[in-house]
Amino acid sequence: MPDTPLDLIIIGGGPAGLTAGLYASRARLQTRLLEQISPGGQVLTTDWVDNYPGFPEGVSGFELVDRMRRQCERFGLEIVSEEVTSVGRAGNLIRVVLTEKDLLAKTLIIASGAQPVKLGVPGEMDLTGRGVSYCATCDGPFYRDLEVGVVGGGDTAVEEALFLTRFASKVHLFHRRDQLRATGILREKILSEPKVTVHWSTVLTGVWPNEQGLVSALTYKDLKTGDETRLPLSGVFFFVGQKPITDYLGDFVALDQAGFVKTDLELATSQPGVWAAGDVRVKRLRQISTAVGDGATAAFNAEKYIEDKF
Ligand code: NAP
Repeated sequence: MPDTPLDLIIIGGGPAGLTAGLYASRARLQTRLLEQISPGGQVLTTDWVDNYPGFPEGVSGFELVDRMRRQCERFGLEIVSEEVTSVGRAGNLIRVVLTEKDLLAKTLIIASGAQPVKLGVPGEMDLTGRGVSYCATCDGPFYRDLEVGVVGGGDTAVEEALFLTRFASKVHLFHRRDQLRATGILREKILSEPKVTVHWSTVLTGVWPNEQGLVSALTYKDLKTGDETRLPLSGVFFFVGQKPITDYLGDFVALDQAGFVKTDLELATSQPGVWAAGDVRVKRLRQISTAVGDGATAAFNAEKYIEDKF
């Protein structure tokens, strides 16, 4: 049997979930934050954050979320490592199903974030962890004085390519268009970085191993000429976008075609008593600063809902 209902369950411990947890604990809601491994979300894989206000010199992704976690714990937030397998209703309560038990709560905030998209080229899956990576902060130091490739033209690809120049002798950036999607300052930086060569209007056609089963080359196609080229290198990093972590929700709340949670202006989902915050929801700007704002709004609305309905 489930325990007595909590006031609020938060799924996800990135900046959105932690901020919701901070506001909820300060509002004295009995709150449990569920996170699969440990709090942090994708910020943990970000080496350096230069656009979060209050840190004039920038701050490491790890330090930023560690500060957020400690701030939450100061106000008594309960953070638990649990995997959520599904979510449903139990009358006017929300049932959150974990691997070994169920939890009931008056309200729920979905803040489970997003994860890197797989490109799906030959060799990508088989060579993951053997030269194919989705995290430069984690794996960059393995490529000291070696050549690596980066795929993508958004903020993540450009930031991570710049980070990789600290280790790699050469970084090849492959982008399918002749203009980067990344923001202005990042575009300026990458285009003036001598260790980076941008291969414009190209798509990867495969990643290839050596006899030890480690990445030794990639092949790419020039979309303008149709020519295919083989380039020897030691690692390939994929940054071709994010997909939401919403599989566990089934059809509990309305999602858009890509699986992001639909919300109204107050971040309410299609289910009463359930809000969504951060990268998991449909929105245009996915940043730490916008996730933080979402977390505060969602927790405030959960508090008001409990006051009205319970
Ligand atoms: P993104 O902005 O969606 O960019 C994905 C990149 O991958 C695009 O350049 C896209 O090309 C390319 N791409 C997508 N599918 C592809 C395919 N099948 N083949 C080849 N290339 C493909 O994703 P993101 O860079 O991960 O960023 C996600 C969100 O986080 C964004 O809102 C971003 O602003 C934010 N973010 C912000 C920061 C920061 O502010 N410092 C850092 C990281 C991320 P096209 O350009 O041609 O579509």
